[in-house]
Amino acid sequence: NQSEEKLTEYLDELEFLAFTAGASVDKRFTQRLTKPDSKTFIGSGKAQEIRDYVKENEIGTVIFDDELSPSQLKNLEKEIEVKILDRTNLILDIFAQRAQTSYARTQVELAQYEYLLPRLTRMWTHLERQQGGIGMRGPGETEIETDRRIIRDRISLLKDKLKTIDRQMATQRNNRGKMVRVALVGYTNVGKSTLMNALSKSDVFAEDKLFATLDTTVRKVVIGNLPFLLTDTVGFIRKLPTQLVESFKSTLDEVREADLLIHVVDISHESFEDHINSVNQTLMEIEAHQKPMIMVFNKIDAFAYEQKADDDLSPETRKNISLEEWMKTWMSKSKYPTVFISALKKENFPELKKMIYDEVLKIHISRFPYND
Ligand code: GDP
Repeated sequence: NQSEEKLTEYLDELEFLAFTAGASVDKRFTQRLTKPDSKTFIGSGKAQEIRDYVKENEIGTVIFDDELSPSQLKNLEKEIEVKILDRTNLILDIFAQRAQTSYARTQVELAQYEYLLPRLTRMWTHLERQQGGIGMRGPGETEIETDRRIIRDRISLLKDKLKTIDRQMATQRNNRGKMVRVALVGYTNVGKSTLMNALSKSDVFAEDKLFATLDTTVRKVVIGNLPFLLTDTVGFIRKLPTQLVESFKSTLDEVREADLLIHVVDISHESFEDHINSVNQTLMEIEAHQKPMIMVFNKIDAFAYEQKADDDLSPETRKNISLEEWMKTWMSKSKYPTVFISALKKENFPELKKMIYDEVLKIHISRFPYND
């Protein structure tokens, strides 16, 4: 039924996130409760079941798909006796791993501290209640207070640092003048960077260092005689932690201020429709959903639904469907120009470039209507 499907879909995604973070998933546990247990999120029987499994199979980490309250996290760690991560934690970890510039690292560090701060506070409240404040209170309180002060100082320092960079970035965006701006958007790991490199390294002209101070890569690209700016943006994820939405504001500004979006989709991924939906959701949240868009279905070289015919997880409709049939279905009937490529093998690049050229030209003409 509907909710069963949703559940599988969410856990598929969580598994994908765990995989992205470098973990391999051994087993899934689900439980239906009318509402989560306030102390341990799951029921005690389920916790016991997980604990036994973890012990028996020497599992290192248990990941929850929702954000756990600080006390739930602590209680679960005690009960299951293993490292517990929640969804927010996992996503922050992925961003931390992938942050390459100091700007991105600053953003992630800020988000991590903001995640940590209330947890430190409430962890203490929880301890205090449990211990009745006796014995623990003196040194414990001082320690936590000191930690909190250090973290708060660090947070305001990071915020100042980001404000300065934000201003610089806004100025840089203004200085780019009237050139058409194209942003690559898409779920994380769909091949945006690969496409960016392929587009600028092939026969198109690219200036690598032009906007090298930005943490999102911005390159000047020329297709035909038409120059435009191509931006690689942060990968979108469903239920992006609020701490990250806030701290990646500047990165999202690139999307918000783009003239054209290239929505890259990993067609070889089982849940690519969900990915499209969560990207569209984010675009709506930042009010960028009305922009012209090109749909690029990437990784056609890895399209392998036929081989997955026996996979229980793949929906019935996917069995024995060829790429050609896929292209003929709703994807090619989308309201946006749509193209199927392999960024890795540079398949169908002429088609893609023509599509980008046409869209950029339209914007260019609307902007400079009186030029020849
Ligand atoms: P991003 O997170 O969207 O920037 O994705 P990346 O460009 O980093 O690519 C993620 C992974 O997908 C990398 O391992 C790429 O090599 C791989 N990849 C990208 N494009 C293709 C493609 O067309 N075919 C295949 N098979 N793999 C691809």
